[in-house]
Amino acid sequence: MRQHNMALCKEHYLEWVPVQTARFIKKYEMFTPEEKILVAVSGGKDSLSLWDILQRLGYKADGLYICLGIDEGIHYSAESQHMAENFANERGLKLHVVDIQKEYKEAIPALTLKSRRGRGKDCSICGLVKRHEMNRIARDFGYDVLATGHNLDDEAAILFGNTLIWAGEYLLRQGPVLSEKPGLARKVKPLCRFYEREMLAYALLRGIEYIYDECPLSVGSTSIYYKEMLNRIENDRPGAKLTFYINFLEARKNGLFTDREEIQAELHPCPICGQPTSAASICSFCRMVKK
Ligand code: SF4
Ligand code: ZN
Repeated sequence: MRQHNMALCKEHYLEWVPVQTARFIKKYEMFTPEEKILVAVSGGKDSLSLWDILQRLGYKADGLYICLGIDEGIHYSAESQHMAENFANERGLKLHVVDIQKEYKEAIPALTLKSRRGRGKDCSICGLVKRHEMNRIARDFGYDVLATGHNLDDEAAILFGNTLIWAGEYLLRQGPVLSEKPGLARKVKPLCRFYEREMLAYALLRGIEYIYDECPLSVGSTSIYYKEMLNRIENDRPGAKLTFYINFLEARKNGLFTDREEIQAELHPCPICGQPTSAASICSFCRMVKK
């Protein structure tokens, strides 16, 4: 790990990752051992590794798999669901499964095509649906906290994109913890300081079976483009990604965006689904479903 100037053998690496995760959970005050955690699992290496780590650390964590119905060309959703279910069954863990097609009559590809945003922005519709469903399940089943497997590469790419356009509201909200609000579960990202390569190594060394394919709708997305840019910088300057992210968190903690905090929009419950929204009437998820 050039960024840490450190090399570990398999045995020590598999000890190091949970120790570091526990350190981040404590440092950012993500949750306590008494709290009920819902882990959003996609069948990929990051979320399954996160679930594995939380089990190893002794936390009470159930899983949530959201079937997006992305099965054109490769059977991406079917295969990733299989991975998530296998993982849960082998370890005797509880997994909630939500099927978007069954719940809302349409799967992600059709919802995306129908939205005015059109193709090429698939991830924004998908993200909206996933956030809504994660929050719905967390709320309905009384989970205290929702954990996602975002790694440093994901976080640095989001930060990079938001910084390029100085998206103040988004910068304010980005971080390892997003506090709970009435109707909204607390969201945490315990892997946010691990490089993607580190999580890949963890999954492989732990023998976790996960889906290797990327989501076919992610091809050409801006997040992949930003990740490639950041990888080029990282390659020339090891640790650049980590510094970029950590220094941002420090700057935010030191009040760089404090003025923005006061002008955050007021939230009210959506008259249809009851989830908090800043929109004038119904929330953006319900608007999309209606359309
Ligand atoms: Fe959804 Fe985009 Fe992720 Fe595919 S890459 S699962 S479309 S958010
Ligand atoms: Zn709504």
